[in-house]
Amino acid sequence: NKKISVSQIQEAAQEAYELYKNNTDGKNADYIPYLANINKNLFGISICLLNGKMIQFGDYDYKFGIESVSKVHTAILVLRQYGAHKLLEMIGADATGLPFNSIFAILLENDHPSTPLVNAGAIVACSMVQPQGNSDEKWNAIVSNITDLSGSAPQLIDELYKSESDTNFNNRSIAWLLKNYNRIYDDPTMSLDLYTRQCSLGITAGQLSVCGATIANNGNNPITKEQIFDAELSPKITSLIATVGFYEHTGDWLYTSGIPAKTGVGGGIMGVLPGLFGISAFAPPIDSAGNSVKAQLAIKHIMNKLGLNVFESG
Ligand code: GLU
Repeated sequence: NKKISVSQIQEAAQEAYELYKNNTDGKNADYIPYLANINKNLFGISICLLNGKMIQFGDYDYKFGIESVSKVHTAILVLRQYGAHKLLEMIGADATGLPFNSIFAILLENDHPSTPLVNAGAIVACSMVQPQGNSDEKWNAIVSNITDLSGSAPQLIDELYKSESDTNFNNRSIAWLLKNYNRIYDDPTMSLDLYTRQCSLGITAGQLSVCGATIANNGNNPITKEQIFDAELSPKITSLIATVGFYEHTGDWLYTSGIPAKTGVGGGIMGVLPGLFGISAFAPPIDSAGNSVKAQLAIKHIMNKLGLNVFESG
């Protein structure tokens, strides 16, 4: 309801950029060399308005590892292929209150792994992608869905994919536990590989803000003007993000920022403000829960400065 002008949004984003660009808190994800060695000073902000106007500062065009933000994209693909009810039935839409890689997420519910936005549910989502049984075609579907949502193609970062694959022991256990409980719907090794590969895609803050805006715009991509998914799926996607987008810190995030958003250990965050904009910020240093320090500060600043909050009546 609130009347917010483009120049107000521009000012708030520029202010956030200036305020935090020299912040040195947090440290790069260090479980693999690729993430540890990324320039820690990179910092970008991108906002995509629903009329297609982009407001961007800093390194918004730098391709970083999408990591767990890709869980949103593939959840959308499953929704596109199966509809809202099947996703609820086969994976679920609950909060876990647990870290992203929790093995217990599988055991929380008797009949499903809780949500496609934690590792267990994301691996199940990859197993559901059609056509089942065909790794290459499933991969094509995953990538073209991300392209549809972002308005341009993501690019695999080979080095990231290789290190993730060499070290993903925890995720291998999750995949096989899912198999043990009959909750994975394609070959576990293939499903895990698709998950690992999608996490290793390079994406820009600009592309993530377009994806956020597509969700905020009832499935219509504001840049390509294409209808990517049925409008009725938008609130489902936003509710998944709001429920578990920051893992065990999702409540704190929503409480302080007022915007549903999804993080990844590559340093990216993608936020969705229904009816207004998609927003993304990127900076490699993360906090102890795996969330980008500067990206969180920037998005919170912009929301607070503009007086926006998804829970406010306007
Ligand atoms: N590749 C990471 C994993 O699945 C992604 C973690 C994240 O971004 O939260 O372990």
